[in-house]
Amino acid sequence: MAKETGLIVQQSLDALLQDMDFLPHLKGLDREQAFRSLGAILSTPNHIHKSYLRIVLDSGNVVRVPAFRIQHNDTLGPYKGGIRFHESVNEDEVTNLATLMTLKNALHEVPFGGAKGGIIINPRDYSVRELYMICKKYVQYFSDVLGPDKDIPAPDMGSGEREMDWMMAEFKNIHPGQPYRGSFTGKSVVNGGSLGRREATGKGVYFTMRYMLHDFLHNQSSWLGSETSRDNRYLQTALGLAERPLKLAVQGFGNVGSVAALEAYQCKLLQNKIVAVSDRNHTLYNEDGLDVPALVDFVAAHGGDLPVSADQLGEAGIKAELLDREAVLTMDVDVLILAALEDQIHVANADQVRARLIVEGANAPVTGDADRILDDKGVIIIPDILANAGGVIVSYFEWLQGRETQFYSEEEVFRQLVDKMQHTMKSLLPAFFGGSHSLRTYGYKHAVHKLSATLYRLGKLY
Ligand code: NAD
Repeated sequence: MAKETGLIVQQSLDALLQDMDFLPHLKGLDREQAFRSLGAILSTPNHIHKSYLRIVLDSGNVVRVPAFRIQHNDTLGPYKGGIRFHESVNEDEVTNLATLMTLKNALHEVPFGGAKGGIIINPRDYSVRELYMICKKYVQYFSDVLGPDKDIPAPDMGSGEREMDWMMAEFKNIHPGQPYRGSFTGKSVVNGGSLGRREATGKGVYFTMRYMLHDFLHNQSSWLGSETSRDNRYLQTALGLAERPLKLAVQGFGNVGSVAALEAYQCKLLQNKIVAVSDRNHTLYNEDGLDVPALVDFVAAHGGDLPVSADQLGEAGIKAELLDREAVLTMDVDVLILAALEDQIHVANADQVRARLIVEGANAPVTGDADRILDDKGVIIIPDILANAGGVIVSYFEWLQGRETQFYSEEEVFRQLVDKMQHTMKSLLPAFFGGSHSLRTYGYKHAVHKLSATLYRLGKLY
């Protein structure tokens, strides 16, 4: 995966090389040299930190848990990115995710760089005390490279506000008398977290879909009239979707997927029917539409899992068929929201995907090969760096609020979140619907453009 991000960075650079409005002052060999520098800077991380956290388990056994902090690029501000607690974490994956963070922040004009952390554990296998020790040790081992103006972690898969609270407390212990609220984001509200942070990613994911199919298409009548646009294959797909009631499937019913599903369910602007949702156990399917609020309540009361049996469906008052976990990916739906893991749509199943719009709530849920297959079929993909940035945007608001010790209302947080995401969508969609490249390509190009202009001004492209 890390190689694929490097490849897309290179493709964005190749496209920018042809664009003479980009770095217009540079000509000939100077221009070539600037592009070589950019390629080298963006395709490699600045720092890879790895440690083995020594933990005494409740049994008395001592284990050393591998952990990473990978800092990709800090051109636009302090490094920023979540810490993933998962047994499949590895250096390549964390590097790739750190690169995506750099591009995501650049795309949405969030003044942070890109980083990511990972701890190779299945958190379900550890007691609360053991997890607390793992969080403390993570901060102790990486304390020199973390901090409100250096590198600001946040939750990711397997971690949440509890872990961020513990980590911030340890940061405060290690650095007495220094500002500490901005050292971690995604904290609980009582500890300086932002209202709306938990819902931010899922809300943002649904917003990108709604904005494309409703707000943008409805408000662009003059632009839609032009000949070049009308024949655009992506526009044909979007207009086809915008005209009819939509059937949606959502993979993953955690923090991101459940909020995106609920937003879609409650939305009055599109006629959505959520026919399938899934999690690590099963897909739940009902062609007449699922009762999403009841599922959200069930999950909250059952440790995060959807119903796993007819009895539990009955208990929750939900009518659904229980299908296998992967069934959600190939259902006969209009829109597929991917909000679980990486690499879910790959070369072996891409041809069976029937959705015409895919929204990437997870990071990199579609592999590079699958992306090309779907693009050839005219499927629109709202890519991760565009769709799932709500979390980091509200993390930025949290960091600001911590510095100012002034806190925004939830309404204000969502207003500013939507403003920022709308601004990015507006800057990409006209080119996308008038051009011939995927929205991912436009997103990457835009992000690399922003980073390059800054690096050039900093005198780093020689
Ligand atoms: P989460 O742990 O709250 O939920 C993950 C969901 O995926 C759960 O419902 C789980 O059961 C399900 N799942 C796990 N393995 C699965 C499998 N093999 N098949 C199908 N479903 C499976 O995580 P989250 O915070 O909702 O994050 C989901 C994805 O979104 C991750 O890839 C994460 O990196 C990405 N993301 C999250 C945020 C955020 O703010 N939470 C921000 C950006 C990106």
